[in-house]
Amino acid sequence: MGLEEQSCIFCKIAAGIVPAYIVHRDAECFAFLDSNPLFPGHVLLCPREHYYTLPDLPARLIAPLFSMTQLLAKAVEAAVDAEGTFIAINNRVSQTVAHLHVHVVPRRRRDGLKGFFWPRQSYIDDGARKAVRDAIEREVRKLLP
Ligand code: 5GP
Ligand code: ZN
Repeated sequence: MGLEEQSCIFCKIAAGIVPAYIVHRDAECFAFLDSNPLFPGHVLLCPREHYYTLPDLPARLIAPLFSMTQLLAKAVEAAVDAEGTFIAINNRVSQTVAHLHVHVVPRRRRDGLKGFFWPRQSYIDDGARKAVRDAIEREVRKLLP
């Protein structure tokens, strides 16, 4: 383990040094119950290798992680008889554990989940909307092969 991994709570869970209620483990990722869940069944899915954020994740791990996200969305929903799920990743801001993790949260209508979303903002006008759209499109083009 490198220095970062040694001090990372999720690397310790992956290594079995810190106990957790593991729900799945495979060659690329592992998933376990969040110790402070939004609702019972709230699961965290992590790559086994230590990466901080989604942008840091190597391309070869995208499919394994997202496939398992899809599978867990089905599994969590069925396991706790939920009506749906909320899938989320905090990247740096609001991220309290510096090891990439996907939240899989069971949801029900009128389940009282408030405060998870911030007040929405509107664009000042269509010009502002278009400027942001253009800027994002430019960045996407730069990143595409
Ligand atoms: P974040 O705020 O980084 O998106 O989410 C971190 C999540 O990890 C939180 O929901 C928190 O409850 C959970 N968590 C933090 N430490 C531990 C731990 O030691 N064990 C487990 N099972 N979950 C943890
Ligand atoms: Zn880690």
